[in-house]
Amino acid sequence: MYDQYNRKIDYLRISLTDRCNLHCHYCQPEVSEHVPHNEILRYEELLHICRAALQLGIRKFKITGGEPLLRKGCSDFIANLKQLEGAEQVTLTTNGTLLSNQLPALIAAGVDSINVSLDTLDAAYYTELTGGSLDSVLQALQELQSAGIPFKLNCVPLAENGPADIMQLLKLAHRYNAPLRFIELMPLDCNANLRGVSGNEIRSLLEQAGLQLQPDAQRYGNGPASYWRISGYAMPVGFIEPLHNKFCAVCNRVRLTSVGMLKPCLYSDAGMNLKHLLRDGASDADLLQAMQDIIYARPAGHSFDVKAARFNMSQIGG
Ligand code: SAM
Repeated sequence: MYDQYNRKIDYLRISLTDRCNLHCHYCQPEVSEHVPHNEILRYEELLHICRAALQLGIRKFKITGGEPLLRKGCSDFIANLKQLEGAEQVTLTTNGTLLSNQLPALIAAGVDSINVSLDTLDAAYYTELTGGSLDSVLQALQELQSAGIPFKLNCVPLAENGPADIMQLLKLAHRYNAPLRFIELMPLDCNANLRGVSGNEIRSLLEQAGLQLQPDAQRYGNGPASYWRISGYAMPVGFIEPLHNKFCAVCNRVRLTSVGMLKPCLYSDAGMNLKHLLRDGASDADLLQAMQDIIYARPAGHSFDVKAARFNMSQIGG
């Protein structure tokens, strides 16, 4: 369907859980409270909402979290979602640390592609930033490659990365021929002490390293990244720049949080809790109407550039 600004909305990000086994400083505070299990949408409720979303013309679904692979039954849910009539694409974003064990089930479920969040190849910095271990992620990348599942790498570059680390990430992405995307840090209350590195800064850094950058008009995925080709590297490099290259005018997505809020915009507090509707016995027509109203009324854009957001990204799913 189209929203009030005539943007086509065909993409839903679904957060399966607010819990994560990592604690990336830019995403959530060191200690955060978790939602009780009965507040989380059950899988049958999620599928109910997805069926309504399909009726509204949403065809592509991203499974996110928290860490989606922490929630039992994630691959079964993907299999069921893939079977809904009209579902064209179901993809997953994960920190990769739990991927090795679950990859066979995800492949059997028919996952279309996987984004792996990987912010650094410096093992010590990885642990400091995330609280986890880099080895499990690197192992998962090898397995993704062997399995032939398309995957992308997502990095939120911070001042701590440094040029050598960025070059290492580039080389790793080249080795796997996996698109690498740099996501500009979105300001949240919990990350006010961090300094993000902008897309411009990364591009300058690559040029200073003697690389030539050419814009690449092709799109690789459903997101707002602008892509570049880099001399000597096989894969495209994408930049998602919510602050310095604001893309709200072409934003095609809405988000469903693990507690059931349908959010018309990542930044906005607006939305409606669909779980309450479902648990209060709303009819399919009521659910559809509520979703249609929320999507239609999407705001023109976010305000990350004006004021940091008060939520943790792990509550919403990025
Ligand atoms: N745990 C999964 C993962 O790591 O991909 C899914 C959830 S995570 C919230 C989704 C994406 O949001 C990750 O790529 C993460 O790097 C990104 N993200 C989290 N906080 C962010 C922030 N403040 N600015 C930009 N991206 C952020």
